[in-house]
Amino acid sequence: MSNYVLPFPKSKIPKGGEFGNTILFDGTPRTNPHRGVDFSLPGGTPIPSFTTGEVVLVKWSEVLGHVAVVKDLKGGFWGYCHLRQACILAVGTKVVAGKTIIGLVGNTGSASHGAHLHLSFGPDDQSVFFGKVSDPIVAIEIRIARDAKEAPVAPVSKVAPVAAKPVAEVAEDVAPAKASVRPAVKKAE
Ligand SMILES: [Zn+2]
Repeated sequence: MSNYVLPFPKSKIPKGGEFGNTILFDGTPRTNPHRGVDFSLPGGTPIPSFTTGEVVLVKWSEVLGHVAVVKDLKGGFWGYCHLRQACILAVGTKVVAGKTIIGLVGNTGSASHGAHLHLSFGPDDQSVFFGKVSDPIVAIEIRIARDAKEAPVAPVSKVAPVAAKPVAEVAEDVAPAKASVRPAVKKAE
């Protein structure tokens, strides 16, 4: 089981919603390259956590609206922005990829123009607001692939153990044979 999941298909990322994009979906130039990815989803859609980890920040931002940040098990920070209402999970709450609902898709914050989830990925809990960020889709796909590689694979070539009975029979057959070995008789000359 991976500690990462992509709960919404990439087809939900509209043109202009990609990471690093400099033009909004309506053609308006962005003031800065896009710092996350936008999933276009109906308002109120529950957002499962993309990662297993822990809620580390719940905050209101004038720009990003209601924000929740989850730290994954490897130290990556995932920001969920424009949530309809404040994340009800307290800081410190453990979350499970694909299972725990972080919040609902909303349209809060001045940077939001219609219901969507803005997801960011960075090296600390402030990267959602400023500083270094990376493409969260690339990051999640790398991690899902890595977890799949590391997951223990059931051996396919393992032969079922031979039933105990035949083994015991073999042992019994061997014992008398050993006992019946006669010492070599010295040939009389
Ligand atoms: Zn965005």
